[in-house]
Amino acid sequence: MVAGLLLVGCGPRSVAGMDEVYFAWDQRRVLCGVTIDDGLRSNFVPSLDNLREGMERARRREEVLIFYAHEPGAGLSVERLESVLALVNDVGLDFLTFDELHGPAGGAGVALTFDDAHIDEWHGQRALFAAYDARVTFFVTRIHLLSDRRLDMLHELYADGHAIESHGLNHVNGPDYVQEHGLQAYIDDEVLPSLVVLRREGFSPTTFAYPFGARTSEIDRAVLEHVALVRSIAWTIRTPLVASPCP
Ligand SMILES: [Zn+2]
Repeated sequence: MVAGLLLVGCGPRSVAGMDEVYFAWDQRRVLCGVTIDDGLRSNFVPSLDNLREGMERARRREEVLIFYAHEPGAGLSVERLESVLALVNDVGLDFLTFDELHGPAGGAGVALTFDDAHIDEWHGQRALFAAYDARVTFFVTRIHLLSDRRLDMLHELYADGHAIESHGLNHVNGPDYVQEHGLQAYIDDEVLPSLVVLRREGFSPTTFAYPFGARTSEIDRAVLEHVALVRSIAWTIRTPLVASPCP
């Protein structure tokens, strides 16, 4: 027992062992991603071998492996992004967007997601995405503050086959907001207005990605009345002291 606890604290996690970052085309509606960012703030950078093993599990079991990243050229180096895209092609997996994860069951794939509002940097990788037939999901926050120029960029990404989804109106921490203002206020202030603006702009949001991955089962139930899926993030440092946000 003691040895087991000690092992829990050791070493980087194996992506293939993280059940919470795979979607098996079942009834699960709270999905989690694992980071591929390699920037300075990233405390866990899975090696390409680790990612390959993770992708091979997805292929074997016909699951979808979910990745998240932020800003190409900063949090995620462009070199690393290209390596990951090439690896997906090499392992023979399809790219799936989040709006494809709640329709008829598909097969093995990778759902690559980008969070926040790095519109210029995302748009700057259009050619790279196209070169690898990569269709990805952009979870956008503060969309009501975007300039027309950046909204046009989002529309170009959408026209390329990428999905434009919600990452909250103002990127607040859900459980904190609920504690202070109540669950209904969170839905009314943070979730619904974000969906309204996305729809007004001509997008069709189906998924809400929690800022900071922060969620509770109570919040899931309320948000899932308005979207088909929610996305959180897997803890990548093993610690017995902090509960993972993934259910
Ligand atoms: Zn975020």
